[in-house]
Amino acid sequence: MTIYSLFRKIIPFVKPYKSLVAATLVFTFIGSLTAQVNAIILKYTVDSINDLMVQHKQLKDGFTILSVITFVLLAKEIISASVQFGQKYYGEKLRIYISRDLSQKVVEKILTYKMAFYTSAENESGKLQTRIDSGISSLTRLVQNFFIDILPLFANALIALGIMFYANFYIGLVSLCIVPIYFFISQKQAQKLGGFRRKMRGYRETKNNSIISLIESITVIKSFIREDFESKKHADIQLAMTDNQMQTRKTSFAFDSVKGFIEQFGVAIIIILTAYFVLKGQMTIGAIMFHIMLFNNVSGPIRQLHRIYDEINDALIYSESYFDILDAQHQVEESGNYQPKTINGYFELRNVDFRYPNGTLALSNVSFQIPAGETSALVGLSGAGKSTTINLLDKFYEPTSGKILLDGVDIKEYNTQFLRKNIGLVLQKNHIFQGTIADNIRYGDMDADMHAIISAAKQAFIHDQIMELPKQYLADARLLSGGQQQRIAIARLFLKNPPIIFLDEPTASLDAIATEQIKNSLDAIKKNRTVIIITHSISQIIDASNIVVLEKGMVKEEGDHESLYKMEGAYYKIFNAMAHSLNIDKIITTISEAG
Ligand code: ADP
Repeated sequence: MTIYSLFRKIIPFVKPYKSLVAATLVFTFIGSLTAQVNAIILKYTVDSINDLMVQHKQLKDGFTILSVITFVLLAKEIISASVQFGQKYYGEKLRIYISRDLSQKVVEKILTYKMAFYTSAENESGKLQTRIDSGISSLTRLVQNFFIDILPLFANALIALGIMFYANFYIGLVSLCIVPIYFFISQKQAQKLGGFRRKMRGYRETKNNSIISLIESITVIKSFIREDFESKKHADIQLAMTDNQMQTRKTSFAFDSVKGFIEQFGVAIIIILTAYFVLKGQMTIGAIMFHIMLFNNVSGPIRQLHRIYDEINDALIYSESYFDILDAQHQVEESGNYQPKTINGYFELRNVDFRYPNGTLALSNVSFQIPAGETSALVGLSGAGKSTTINLLDKFYEPTSGKILLDGVDIKEYNTQFLRKNIGLVLQKNHIFQGTIADNIRYGDMDADMHAIISAAKQAFIHDQIMELPKQYLADARLLSGGQQQRIAIARLFLKNPPIIFLDEPTASLDAIATEQIKNSLDAIKKNRTVIIITHSISQIIDASNIVVLEKGMVKEEGDHESLYKMEGAYYKIFNAMAHSLNIDKIITTISEAG
C-alpha cells in the first residue's frame, strides 16, 4: 500500500466529520500563532531592558514595559490554554468517532463473507482478531497524531520559519536547510525500523494465536506432560521478539543522536550568524534569543518527523491487512434472486466436485437425490465428505463443478438468505450464546413472544426441565447440560420452522441417556419435513427412508436399509461394524436374563 492509497482509504472515514476537522484546524492555526509570542516577547524584553541600561535608567522607568510584557504573556497563556483544550478535545473526538466507525464497518463487512473466509488458515480467529485490532489501532493513532500532535507542530514550524525569513533572509535560509537533512535522516530511520516492525507483527500474531491454542489444548498438554516443550516454544518466540525490540531501540537511539547533533549544529550557526549581524549593527541584541527560540520552534517539530514516518509506516503495514479484510469483495457471499412461494425440499446433486480452498478434494463426481418430505441419511466413515455435502446444500460453499438443484432450480439462483431461512441446521455441538434460555430459543425467530418460545420448548421436550430451574426461562443457557443445550437448539428450530432440516451428528457428543432424551425432540422436528441426517446411530439410520453411502468423497451406494444391507457392500460393512461395536449379543443376553 502506498501513502496515497492509505489516505484515499481513510478519507471516507473522516468525511462524515468535516466540521470536527475544520474546528481542529482553526484551533491549530490559532495555536501556532500564539506559540510564537514567547519568542517575540523575549526579544522585546531583552531589547527594551538593554535600552534602559544603556540610558542608565531605573527600574521604575521600565514599569510600562514590564506591564505590557506581563499583560501580553498572560493573555497569550489564556488564549493558548483554551486553544489547546479545543484542539485536543476535537482531535480526540475525531479519533474516537473514527475508531468506532472502523470497527463497526469491518464487523458489518465480514458478516457478509463466505464461509471460506472464516475457515481459511490465515483467518484463524486469533489471527483475524489481531489483524483487525492492530489495523484499527494504527489507523486511529494516525488520525489522532496527525490532528493532535503532528499538525499543530508543523503549523507551528511553518509560521516560525516564516517569521525567521521575515526577520532576516539568511537566518531563515539556515533554518530551512535543516529541514531536508532531517527529512532524509528520518526517512532512513523509518526504512530501517519498518523491517523490524513487520517482523514484530508476525511475532505478535503467532504469540497471540499460540496462547489461544495453549488454552484450547491444555488438557492434552498436561496429560502428555508437555509443559516444558510448550514453554520452550513460547520462550523461542519471546527471545526472537526481545532481540527484535532491542534492535528497534538501538536503531532509534542512534538516529536520535545524529538528529540531536544536527540540531545543535544548526543552533550554533544561528548564534554565530546573529552575533555577526548584531556586531555589524544590523540587529539588536534581543535577536539572538529571538532566533534561537524560533529555530527551536522549527526544529522541534521536524525532530518529530520520524514519528510521522513511524505512524504512517505502521498504518501502512497494519492497516493493509485491515483494508484487505474490509475490501475483500470476492469474499462476499453471492446470491441469486429466486424466492419461490413454497419449498418442497427435493434436492438433486449432479456430478458435484468440491475442493476446499486449501486444496483438499472432498467430493468427486457426486450425484444423488434427496426426496422431499422424507428423512435421508448420509452414511460413511469419518472424512467421507458428509458434512461437506451439507455445507454445499446450505450454500456455505459452492461446488467446484457440477450442479445442485432444489425443487429443480439451481441453488445458485436462489436468494441465499431466503434459502437459509428455509433450512434448519442442527450440529453435533450447537452454539449456545451467552444469555438466557429464552434469548437462545428466540434466536430462531427474533419476533417470537414468550408464548411462542414456551410452545417451541414444549415441542422440543425441554419445557418441563426448564421449569424446574430456579430462574426458569431466564436461566443462563450456558449452564445447561449438553443434552439440554441440544434440545434448546432444536426448540430454536421449531421457532424457525423451516421445511428442510439438516442434522449433522446431532447425538454424537451426547451420552446414551441424553441421546434417549433428545430422541423424542428429534422425531418431532423431523415430522413433515425434508430431513438429511448424518449419524452413526443405528436406530436413526434404520429410520431413514433413503440412505446414501459415501466413501472418500464418492457415492458408493444408495437405497433403503434392507436393499443396501442385502447388497453386502460398503453399507453392509459399516452397518455390521456399528452393530458389533454395540456388542448386541451381550446386550440381548443381559436384558433377557434380567427379564
Ligand atoms: P465427514 O463429515 O464425512 O466426516 P467432511 O465432509 O468433514 O467429512 O470432510 C471431508 C474432507 O474434507 C476431509 O478430508 C476433511 O479433512 C476435508 N475438510 C473438511 N472441512 C474442511 C475445511 N474447512 N477446509 C479444508 N478441508 C476440509
